Amino acid sequence: MGRIRVLPDAVANQIAAGEVVERPASVIKELLENSLDAGSTSISIEAESGGRRLLRITDNGCGMLRDDAMLAFERHATSKLSSVKDLFSISTLGFRGEALPSIASVSRLTLETHAPEESTGSVVEIHGGKMVRCDEAGLANGTVITVRDLFFNVPARKKFLRSDQTELAHIASLVTHYSLAHPDKTFELRHDNRELLHVTPVATLRERVFQVFGSHILDDLLDIGEHEKEFLLPDPPQGLPDEERTRVFLLRGFVSMPQVQKYNRNSIYLFVNGRLIRDKLLMHAMQAAYHNLMPPGSFPFALLFLDCDAEEVDVNVHPSKTEVRFRHGSWVHDYVRDAIRSSIMQSRPLSSLPMHAPPQPAARLPYSEFSQQMENASIRNVIPPDDVQGVQPADLNLPTFTLNQPQGPAPRFDFTDAPPPTPQPTPATVRTKIPDTHGGLPDGVVLDAVHSLDILKDLRPLGQLHESFILAAGRDGLWIIDQHVAHERILFEQVLRQRAAGHVEQQALLMPMVIQLTAGQQLEYAQIADELRLSGFDSEPFGNRTIAISAAPAAVKPGDIEKILFEILETSERELRGASLDEVRRNVCATIACRAAIKINMRLDQQKMEWLLHELAKCEHPTNCPHGRPIALRYSTRDILKGFHRI
Ligand code: ADP
Ligand code: MG
Repeated sequence: MGRIRVLPDAVANQIAAGEVVERPASVIKELLENSLDAGSTSISIEAESGGRRLLRITDNGCGMLRDDAMLAFERHATSKLSSVKDLFSISTLGFRGEALPSIASVSRLTLETHAPEESTGSVVEIHGGKMVRCDEAGLANGTVITVRDLFFNVPARKKFLRSDQTELAHIASLVTHYSLAHPDKTFELRHDNRELLHVTPVATLRERVFQVFGSHILDDLLDIGEHEKEFLLPDPPQGLPDEERTRVFLLRGFVSMPQVQKYNRNSIYLFVNGRLIRDKLLMHAMQAAYHNLMPPGSFPFALLFLDCDAEEVDVNVHPSKTEVRFRHGSWVHDYVRDAIRSSIMQSRPLSSLPMHAPPQPAARLPYSEFSQQMENASIRNVIPPDDVQGVQPADLNLPTFTLNQPQGPAPRFDFTDAPPPTPQPTPATVRTKIPDTHGGLPDGVVLDAVHSLDILKDLRPLGQLHESFILAAGRDGLWIIDQHVAHERILFEQVLRQRAAGHVEQQALLMPMVIQLTAGQQLEYAQIADELRLSGFDSEPFGNRTIAISAAPAAVKPGDIEKILFEILETSERELRGASLDEVRRNVCATIACRAAIKINMRLDQQKMEWLLHELAKCEHPTNCPHGRPIALRYSTRDILKGFHRI
């Protein structure tokens, strides 16, 4: 007897499940695609415990005939394909006939289905691949599939599952994507009986984007319209008439303007013939479209639908059907790149950016616009690509010198030609002596850490030192302003003002961000949750030691949200035990401002420097950043004169 055996179906199904069913979200993907293929107009999904305990999908599609309900669980049983020829022109989402048997082999699955052609429906129950029940039942038209205890019989796979929140996030993201691809259908997602998504049919993609993401996102998006292009087969079979040589491609959807920058590809949703895919070729085309408009390493938001003749795209590349292969890949690449780029160019992103407009007083700018303005400008032509991520002060590579802060008050200067400073609680300026050991300033020259900045109004920026400090000429001398702390102060006061007025500019998050807390942070969170809400963070407890954040202050980059929250919770925990509400509030605002402020090592143009000084001059306390660091140093005219032995 030979050594080779054909694997029993049960084993083959589990092997297939290994490829098709990676996690609860992959089950949902397969079942959702089946419901869509069945022509459903309303699909509702329930999950419990991140989908491990229960996943249920209910649709109003064509249902299955009784015989089919049994057959569907046979390997390679499908109603969507009947010959090899069909494989090259697949118009349905499914075709491999693998999903149902695979899922049923690693869970306890119940199928309840009723096709209108038959008078009753059927219930089929399969546990770990074994049929345990098959009955007739009175059911509504359509199909309900319930998947319980996923991987109950494959402990090795179960171990790979992440936290409930992570698994839920994957499910939510998937359902969201499909709801975007089908604006004409109802989608509902509930988790542990809480509604996470519920969208009803709308006429346009734009309306669906609004339903899912809200107007905030829509404002930053560009509708690229419909880009239709014909492709003539270069090597048609002999005698093929011209009209049959033509392949039509249609690209539509939304892309973000270049100023919206994401730090990963997670906000790029690509659909090819209605199928959600991850495709390197299209990803590359996207990035090429933004070439020179966006710094390398940052990514746009995109929601793109490419439709083409089924023969032009091979979807049978991977069992989970998330990859495709285009028959004429390089043509498709250039077509997609050019379509997106021309749309972006037509919307004239450069001239519409506020860079060239005269700087506006921030008080009249909403917070989000302001921070966007700062960002836009820096993206455009000021930041060298490598600096995009911003550099923390510790990374700054400056010639080393130390500032000695002498103890006790130092003598005050005579301002001969400047208006007298408004009296401060401690009017003395601290004189800071810089030793000349590094060949910098001549011995004896002093810089003042400035305690009153009302002469800032008259400052004229001369340029930047190390792209970090603004040098400015004033009537009373030369000023050096730390751009990060200056901006931090401006933002801090803005946040506080907005906070006091009760309307902090917010951004809704694409997906609620689920954050896990330590027990200590959990307690702290409970104490400051109200303050967080009033400062622009919409969050709710979400299961044990977890919170879900659905909105954040507009100035905060989405990638920073988690860090900021942890920072706030941590400082609260460490320093603010028993602190007054006011202290907590200031801490929250200071953390937001610090994160949102421009960094050092960032080139600023003249307008931006002027803007910064102008805004700083309007601050109530322009001398120190919220953490207490000085904002400006002054090298007085008197000292300059002295240094040159003119007095
Ligand atoms: P595939 O989708 O590749 O055909 P599946 O294993 O996912 O394979 O499904 C097997 C078959 O079961 C499908 O071809 C379809 O006929 C039927 N089916 C699955 N889900 C549904 C549903 N929700 N409504 C109607 N028919 C369904
Ligand atoms: Mg299927």
